Amino acid sequence: MSHHWGYGPHNGPEHWHKDFPIAKGHRQSPVDIDTKAAAHDPALKPLTVSYEQVASRRILNNGHSFNVEFDDSQNTAVLKGGPLADTYRLVQFHFHWGSCDGQGSEHTVDQEKYAAELHLVHWNTKYGDFGTAVKQPDGLAVLGVFLKVGDAKPGLQKVVDALCSIKTKGKSAAFTGFDPCGLLPGCLDYWTYPGSLTTPPLLECVTWIVLREPISVSSEQINTFRQLSFNKEGEAEELMVDNWRPTQPLHGRQVRASFQ
Ligand SMILES: [Zn+2]
Repeated sequence: MSHHWGYGPHNGPEHWHKDFPIAKGHRQSPVDIDTKAAAHDPALKPLTVSYEQVASRRILNNGHSFNVEFDDSQNTAVLKGGPLADTYRLVQFHFHWGSCDGQGSEHTVDQEKYAAELHLVHWNTKYGDFGTAVKQPDGLAVLGVFLKVGDAKPGLQKVVDALCSIKTKGKSAAFTGFDPCGLLPGCLDYWTYPGSLTTPPLLECVTWIVLREPISVSSEQINTFRQLSFNKEGEAEELMVDNWRPTQPLHGRQVRASFQ
């Protein structure tokens, strides 16, 4: 590739395999969730989301999305239960979104796209650090939440208000005291399957847990996402929209449902 990966016609998802051949692997994400084919697994436990002691630190425009980063030096915000055998620590969350409300999510449900998708990224504490965990098949657990456009999500507004200070790639700002519980829907019913990171290096290290119930955000909130830029300050403006990877083949994987 003549330039770094991105979401454009010359460096987008169709090109990623040239630098990251695992893009054509058999455990890639996202996938379409066929609700008829996703069997209820009564052995799946309820999810335990324990974010009470969470400590957000910073918000960063990384040129692909924006990350809200957490202090992961202790077990202050963890995900366990559900399909998970271990305890996973929250390290960051980010979103993927569209140029319009009809696209933007990475996973789809019966081929339907949502306007955006939230990814809360956790690493398996038995591996000691994030960098070691991503090399393991059970290294990460990502909690995915769909966004639809309607009523505003009050728990998202602090994030929206911070975006004006990180418009371009490489900008960051202090972002403390944020509670990611305010981004979750009321019901934690989920689908789960083994997959990968959806951005390069596309490592096949993720247990995906995708919530059935979307959250609703307002047009104003999602339009603020769309005013961010992929480019650095002073470069030609490329608005940060359509930063989602299309769905990938299941290659025999089963998507399981926690609910009937
Ligand atoms: Zn993501």
